[in-house]
Amino acid sequence: MEKPFAIRRVKGFQIVNSRGNPTLRVQVVTESGVSGFGDAPEGASKSDKEAVELRDKDYSVRTAVDIVNSIVNETLRGFDVRNQVAIDETLVKLDGTENKSRIGGNVTIATSIAALHAGAKATEQELFRYIGGSRVRHIPVPLLNVINGGKHAGNELKIQEFIIIPYGFSRFADAIEASTRVYRTLKSLIAERYGKLYTAVGDEGGFSPPLRRTRDALDLLMEAIRRSGYTDQEFKLGLDAASSEFYNENKGVYEIDGEVMDKGKLLEFYVQLANEYPLGYLEDPFQENDMTSFAEIQRAIPNVIVTGDDLYSTNPKYLREGIKINATKGVIVKPNQIGTVTETIEFAEIAKSHAIKTVVSHRSGETESAFVADLSVGLQSDFIKTGAPARGERTAKYNRLIEIEELYELRFLGRQAFS
Ligand code: PEP
Ligand code: MG
Repeated sequence: MEKPFAIRRVKGFQIVNSRGNPTLRVQVVTESGVSGFGDAPEGASKSDKEAVELRDKDYSVRTAVDIVNSIVNETLRGFDVRNQVAIDETLVKLDGTENKSRIGGNVTIATSIAALHAGAKATEQELFRYIGGSRVRHIPVPLLNVINGGKHAGNELKIQEFIIIPYGFSRFADAIEASTRVYRTLKSLIAERYGKLYTAVGDEGGFSPPLRRTRDALDLLMEAIRRSGYTDQEFKLGLDAASSEFYNENKGVYEIDGEVMDKGKLLEFYVQLANEYPLGYLEDPFQENDMTSFAEIQRAIPNVIVTGDDLYSTNPKYLREGIKINATKGVIVKPNQIGTVTETIEFAEIAKSHAIKTVVSHRSGETESAFVADLSVGLQSDFIKTGAPARGERTAKYNRLIEIEELYELRFLGRQAFS
C-alpha cells in the first residue's frame, strides 16, 4: 500500500440524537482500512453568530448526508488523514461562507471530527493525546447542570442551567461520585416537595421542578449540597443564564422572575446572587450582542468566572473584540458553533494565551459520542460542561474522563481551576 494514511472514502448517514431528532454521522476511512466517526451535536439556545446547521424542511438531515457522500467525499479523497489543518481548511473553502451556511456546519463538524478520530486511530494514539500531545497533564473540573430551565425544560425558570461545581476534590472520579450524591438528594427533595412527577428530567439530564424564581432553584441546590454532607469548600454553584432567550429585543429589557429588568437592574440582580450564594461561574448573563455589559459585570464580581457562550460563539473574531475590553474571564468552546476542529483549537488557544479560562461544552442535543471529553483533555481546558450525571449521552463524557484519569494517571485540576 503506497499511501496508508490517505483518505479512501467519506460517508455520511442519518442517526438520531438525545432529543429524538435526526442528526448526521460521518465516517472517514483511510486506505489502510482505519475508520473514524464524527457526530453533529444540536443546540436549542443557539446564537445568531454560530455556524448554520443544514436541515431539511421535515427536520431530517438528508441533504447534509448527500453533500457528504458527494462533494465532501470527492474533495477529501486522497488527503492525508493526519493533516487535520489541511482537511479543515479545505472544508472551510468548500463551504465558502462566513457561517458555513452552504454545505452546513453539521457537515463540516461531523467530517472534521471523523477525520480527527481516524487520524488518532491510524497513528495508534488516544484521541486526547493526538489532540494535546505531551502537554497533557490534567483533567478539567466538571460543571454539572442539575436543574434545567429556559429552552431546555418545560418549567417557568428563565435561567437555563443551574450548575454544581465539584472543585474541592483530589480526583475527578471522586468529584463525579459526590455529584451523584447531590443529584440523588436533589431528586428526593423534589419528590418530597413537589411530587414524583417532577423528578422527570430535562434535555441535559437535570431536573425540572415547578419553580419560578432563580433563588428558589439556588436554595434547593444549596440544601441538596448540605444534606449530602458537603459545604462550599467542595462545591461552588454556577449559572448559565442563556439570557438572549429572555431578552425582549423590541423593548430592550429582560423578563425574568416575574419582573422586567433593564440591563442595570439585571446586573444588580446577579451581583446580589453572587453575594448570597457561593457562585463561581456565570455564563451569558446578558444578551449576546451586549459585550459591554459582560465587561461591567466581570468588573463588579471579579471572583466569579463570567463566561461568554453565545457572546463569542467559538469564533476568534468575537473573542478578539472581547479581549480588547476584558469582557470575560471565561469562554465556552463548542466545536459545532464554529464548524471545524482546527478553528475550535485556534479559538481555545487564543483564549489560553490571554489567560482566559476555557470551558469545553456539549450541546443540549447530543449523541453518545465522548468526543468533547477527549477534546477537553487534549486542549487542557479548565472546565468541561456536559450536563447532569445522568442520561447516557451525558455519562458517556463523564465516564470517558473517569477512564482517562484511571488509565493515564492525569491530575484532577480541582481548586486550581479557580486560581
Ligand atoms: C448552552 O447554552 O450552554 C447549551 C449547551 O445549550 P444549547 O446546546 O441548547 O445551546
Ligand atoms: Mg450556554
